[in-house]
Amino acid sequence: MTDEALPAGFGQRWVHTMFDAFLDRTEALADLDRRAGDGDFGANIAAALRRARENIATEPPGSYSAWLTAVSRGFLGTGGTSGPLFGMFFRELARCTGGPEPSPAEFSTGLSAGLATVQRYGKAEVGHKTMVDALAPAAQTLAAHVAAGDEPEAALRATADAAVTGASSTVSLVAARGRASYVGEVARGVLDPGAAAAALILQAAAAAYPDHPGPVDTTWLDATE
Ligand code: ADP
Ligand code: MG
Repeated sequence: MTDEALPAGFGQRWVHTMFDAFLDRTEALADLDRRAGDGDFGANIAAALRRARENIATEPPGSYSAWLTAVSRGFLGTGGTSGPLFGMFFRELARCTGGPEPSPAEFSTGLSAGLATVQRYGKAEVGHKTMVDALAPAAQTLAAHVAAGDEPEAALRATADAAVTGASSTVSLVAARGRASYVGEVARGVLDPGAAAAALILQAAAAAYPDHPGPVDTTWLDATE
């Protein structure tokens, strides 16, 4: 199962589903960074999405790698800590295959490489209240499903669920990295916006697997707002 490519158009559907989820919840993410950071996260995400959409309009992508590269460049051109980190994360995902769409095994390798590059530059471990808290369990879960030869749909769903659980776990933490670490105890009780964004990205991948992706269920964000 895992050496067959994901269905045609997966990359394009993923990017569009991700844009929709972010556009729907930018204000909620912005509010999290206002409460536990310096308040620029919403503006950073909005700027990255605007740049990514401009890239797509100027040079319409023709492959999975091109879709993910357009997103990567949108984030790389953005300020804050999250912009460059997500930019490098998407660059690894763009590189994971030479084919029109990745196989689950290639996708898993890309996700692990994305996590590794975020950790290499950001030096965050699980428990530091960052995007790593969502990305690390997601990468582990996908690798385990791929190793077990599970169906891609179930593997992507389990990956998204692991990311949401990991993101939700940041509520009870104080931050050891990023600007939220400057506010100490104030950050406890607030979901980490970067971890929440990482979970939305992986939920969008699961939602994009079928030919007609449904919207991402973002109601879990409200439970902790
Ligand atoms: P800044 O902290 O510079 O204001 P943003 O507001 O753009 O950056 O992004 C904040 C998010 O970036 C946090 O919610 C966290 O998930 C993530 N982040 C911050 N520092 C790191 C780091 N060293 N490693 C991984 N992620 C980080
Ligand atoms: Mg910030």
